[in-house]
Amino acid sequence: MNIVQSAVPPLPPELLAKFRAIVGEKYAVTDAADIKPYVTEERDLFQGRSPLVLRPGSTTEVAAICKLASEHKIALVPQGGNTGLVGGQTPHNGEVVVSLRRLDKIRDIDVESNTMTCEAGVVLQIAQQKAADVDRLFPLSLGAEGSCTIGGNLSTNAGGTAALAYGVAREMAIGLEVVLADGRVLNALTKLKKDNTGYNLHNLFIGAEGTLGIISELTIRLRGIPDTIAAAACSFETVRGACQATILAIQTGIPVARIELLNAAQVKACNSYSKLSLPETPLLLLEFHGSEVEVAEQSKNFRDIAAECGGGDFTWTTKPEDRTKLWQARHDAYWSVKALRPGDSIGVVATDVCVPISRLADCVTETEEDLKRLNLLSPIVGHVGDGNFHCSLLCDVNDKDEMARGEEFMHRLVERAQAMDGTCTGEHGIGLGKIDYLTDELGEAVDVMRSIKTALDPHGLMNPGKIFAGARP
Ligand code: FAD
Repeated sequence: MNIVQSAVPPLPPELLAKFRAIVGEKYAVTDAADIKPYVTEERDLFQGRSPLVLRPGSTTEVAAICKLASEHKIALVPQGGNTGLVGGQTPHNGEVVVSLRRLDKIRDIDVESNTMTCEAGVVLQIAQQKAADVDRLFPLSLGAEGSCTIGGNLSTNAGGTAALAYGVAREMAIGLEVVLADGRVLNALTKLKKDNTGYNLHNLFIGAEGTLGIISELTIRLRGIPDTIAAAACSFETVRGACQATILAIQTGIPVARIELLNAAQVKACNSYSKLSLPETPLLLLEFHGSEVEVAEQSKNFRDIAAECGGGDFTWTTKPEDRTKLWQARHDAYWSVKALRPGDSIGVVATDVCVPISRLADCVTETEEDLKRLNLLSPIVGHVGDGNFHCSLLCDVNDKDEMARGEEFMHRLVERAQAMDGTCTGEHGIGLGKIDYLTDELGEAVDVMRSIKTALDPHGLMNPGKIFAGARP
């Protein structure tokens, strides 16, 4: 894809000079080739354009950028690792990008309080590693963990594979420092487990996709590393059977740390990409955390449930290298799907519906039937313990008929989930990609959200056009 930077109106030279003075010449990017990685995303689905990418190195610089932008009514798009799947980080209307990646310092790891305080641009995998270095677990776990940032994870309220046991990003954040649209800095960097002082403002910014302010620092909760971690894999005859085993495990309260579904098409893709030899039928990947005895008991209980639901081969291991191999394959699922159908014109659309656990089997089964009926290729992978699953739809953008079938499939999928009391997005967010579904799903709650947006960002300068339709709230 070619980004035609000449199509972006340049900023007035005096204003550009002021932005440059804030971050320094080197960190104010104006060259089209250097801007390109910030305005395109891996899948090329959301194209952006921008006259300027600012790369601040401190909260003070972020605040100065916001203040200047507010005075001159310049719209900003905050960006972390640029791994978002709904276009929230894309400057689709020529906005100035504020890349937080230079805010990469870990300020403090308090082992006794089990907290880590760091800047928002710290890459998730680095935070996980730093926690492990002091015998602690930071259990947020995503396929893009080598490039996404913790600020981005909080802004999207990311979920991932371990949310079943440890919760989503929101449940891991204790305190935030946020720069508001007018440059004010809201500091709520607490380490407290309990804090009842007025409105819980920091929660407003989690999952706000950069539309209310820029997260510059944060404190997250760490956990102890479980004594024993066991990984298991269990194949099923049908996808319904795999979902039913999941439902029963959750309903009977087996404390599974992770349950991930891979349908037959996804197992096939993983076998080929990750050089595995798993049976090419629906598969559940599981992880159990606890003492040796607890883990053995949990996995036995799950094995009994799986057998009732048509589960076959059940393998389990506590060997770290075997566990890592299985979970690496799961985390590489997206790349394995891409490899199924290479080509410049092939896009991968990752859907993200979530339904109450009781409706999981119906929703996944009907979705597979729909894919077959529409003759579309889309492996399914899911954090099914949370009722959340992703179809990775492969479509050729040059094939009008296939694109139309893809659109039909996606609308029907969201309608199906909503009819089952579910949502169009369990963890990726609304961004640009799901705006059309928001009002249908939330009705008047969207007006309340707009009021909050207007109160904090009256000129609509903070990531305009995301979440809500229209450039301004
Ligand atoms: P970006 O993509 O840069 O930004 C995402 C949104 O957050 C944008 O709206 C942006 O404006 C805003 N933002 C970013 N940083 C800040 C900040 N400091 N302050 C305010 N706003 C900010 N997501 C899941 O939830 N679970 C998964 O399992 C998962 N797996 C993935 C696997 C792959 C292969 C890929 C490519 C993506 C996956 N994702 C998943 C999606 C993505 O990784 C997450 O949404 C992630 O949290 C985005 O972080 P980021 O730093 O890349 O943010």
